[in-house]
Amino acid sequence: MPKPDLVAMSDTMAEKPATMKLLNEVLIPLMKEMDIPFELCTSHLGGLVEYYQSHGAIPIIGTRHCTAKFKIRPIRRKVREYVGNARGKHIATCWLGITTDEDHRESESDVIWFQNRYPLLELGLSRQDCIDSLARRGIVVEKSGCYMCPYQSGDEWLKIKEEFPDLWNNAIALEDEYFKTHPGRWKGLRYDGKRLREPLTDFAKSKCSSGGCFI
Ligand code: SF4
Repeated sequence: MPKPDLVAMSDTMAEKPATMKLLNEVLIPLMKEMDIPFELCTSHLGGLVEYYQSHGAIPIIGTRHCTAKFKIRPIRRKVREYVGNARGKHIATCWLGITTDEDHRESESDVIWFQNRYPLLELGLSRQDCIDSLARRGIVVEKSGCYMCPYQSGDEWLKIKEEFPDLWNNAIALEDEYFKTHPGRWKGLRYDGKRLREPLTDFAKSKCSSGGCFI
């Protein structure tokens, strides 16, 4: 594949610590070594958690508002700075890292100027193939995503609670504010329908890690 003109990652300001560590210690130095510009793209709305908390809201499974606002739009805005504007013309191609085990996430772009391409699907690579390939290069990866993402499994919630109490408390505060603003709602950040303040043990036995976020 040709060398990309730009590598861009959205920064919701709520990304898990392991991802930011990998970014700073591996990805950014690698991009420098390969002479590829790298951009971390933040939303003009600020941090995702702060934004939702100030609106008494939470990211909700199935709506994808958070992905659009804090991932897709910031990246497209940054790409615009590189390619400019051209009404009705295809001027940028975005490679997305969707693997064969999540090929249902492959979709056409909703705008002409910014088209999607899926190199890992073209190469027939699964998530495990990618993990193995990186491990052979000495790179260990963890699933990325916001620390309070409603798509994460019970295991992942438990890890946040045990290893990052500050982030766990932020997630609790976000959910508390949501239920305070919307006392009639029953479902919070856990996809099993229970509240974060309820025990996580049974939920942690669930093993979904398919990833529901678009980028
Ligand atoms: S990782 Fe989760 S919370 Fe963060 S933008 Fe994606 S779907 Fe929303």
